[in-house]
Amino acid sequence: MTRRYSALSLIKEGLAGQKGWQPAWRSPEPKKNYDAVIIGGGGHGLATAYYLARTHGISNIAVLEKGWIGGGNTGRNTTVVRSNYYYPESVAIYGLAHRLYEGLSKELNYNVMLSQRGMVFLCHSIGEMEIGARTVNAMQINGVDAEMFSVDDVRRVAPALNFAPDARYPVFGGVWQGRAGTARHDAVAWGYARAASALGVDIIQNCEVSDFIIEGGRCRGVQTSRGTIRTDRIGMAVAGHSSVLAAKAGFRLPINSYALQACVSEPVKPILDTVVLSPGTGVYVSQSDKGEIVIGGALDRTPSYGQRGNLPTLENVISGLLEMFPAFGQLKLMRQWAGIVDVVPDSSPIIGESPLPGLFLNCGWGTGGFKAIPAGGTLLANLLATGKHNDISRPFDLDRFVTGRLLDEAAGSGIAH
Ligand SMILES: Cc1cc2nc3c(=O)[nH]c(=O)nc-3n(C[C@H](O)[C@H](O)[C@H](O)COP(=O)(O)OP(=O)(O)OC[C@H]3O[C@@H](n4cnc5c(N)ncnc54)[C@H](O)[C@@H]3O)c2cc1C
Repeated sequence: MTRRYSALSLIKEGLAGQKGWQPAWRSPEPKKNYDAVIIGGGGHGLATAYYLARTHGISNIAVLEKGWIGGGNTGRNTTVVRSNYYYPESVAIYGLAHRLYEGLSKELNYNVMLSQRGMVFLCHSIGEMEIGARTVNAMQINGVDAEMFSVDDVRRVAPALNFAPDARYPVFGGVWQGRAGTARHDAVAWGYARAASALGVDIIQNCEVSDFIIEGGRCRGVQTSRGTIRTDRIGMAVAGHSSVLAAKAGFRLPINSYALQACVSEPVKPILDTVVLSPGTGVYVSQSDKGEIVIGGALDRTPSYGQRGNLPTLENVISGLLEMFPAFGQLKLMRQWAGIVDVVPDSSPIIGESPLPGLFLNCGWGTGGFKAIPAGGTLLANLLATGKHNDISRPFDLDRFVTGRLLDEAAGSGIAH
């Protein structure tokens, strides 16, 4: 059971030297057999385990994480949550995630600090305004809360932007999604972990999957750094390392792995009350609850597993940021880091059974899978429990690379993921 703390017990703990806290999730030794195993203790893996137990009543499950939970991209991202996509299939999947996020703190009894402060995609020319209007129209037809913003609307939500008409990237207006915002990334991982553990799921950290057991043409288990584990159902949610494990399972994925960087400034007083993204400069920015300016940008250009990123990309991101917010030039940069993301040619995720029966995939979220965690977990759990797609996951099956029915969101909504 998840232990609940009353206000009084919090005060008591504070006065008694903080010795009575219980771990939020159990850390059991791995068993030899499970009904299902999830590889990857990021948000998608943990959410999958939670929904398998909560929705489908399958709780004899292990989540195997090679490091610590949330230590991959889930704990390294810039925490933006939105659902402003172009194609109806994408609207269905990201819309599901967005709605689930809106109820997630209550569902998990864990504050994931969802802050729906809105997000504006800037338009820097008349041409970009026209593309923006087309995008907004398509989104509204699909039921997404998108709106066209004039330059005055943008000034109202982000007054610190550079509005000079002779700016290198002048602001003409933007595309606004009011329900977008941010959520605390670690809290999403920890909340799912705690709730899954309370339902009986074994969360096993420092447990690297090194190979698959294949018998009779099916996947029957995994070899790990903590021994052999047998199971007939395996879900794989390892983001930038999907191709590495796919190779061990004997197939190739249409995925390239790249470093994606982010950085934060020193904390400052409130100056930015929304999320601002500039497709022109390739930079997006928000302010954390602690006051840090959280800065993200484009991928490093060369495929890599170097989880730190390279300096020229960081310099590009910072120069784009200063075009948008010249006043931020006074800030000190406090931290920089990178995660390894899994990029698919049509910029849409892959969900479905792999070419190795018994092994199911949840990957290809690229630069934008944090916002999709509740949906990715729900859909992979459904696949593992039933062996079948539902209408929302069906279009994202790997077979779209055979049929050619791709979902090119980079072309559709203007940003890769
Ligand atoms: C800098 C940056 C900024 C981002 N910003 C945003 C954003 O603002 N909004 C958004 O929606 N998305 C964003 N993303 C993308 C988002 O973080 C990812 O799409 C998402 O976190 C993927 O979640 P996951 O659970 O699939 O993967 P991860 O969180 O990466 O989890 C996968 C886990 O698998 C583990 N693993 C790998 N190999 C093995 C193995 N062999 N055995 C066992 N475990 C293994 C890893 O250690 C890791 O913990 C950003 C990403 C980065 C890097």
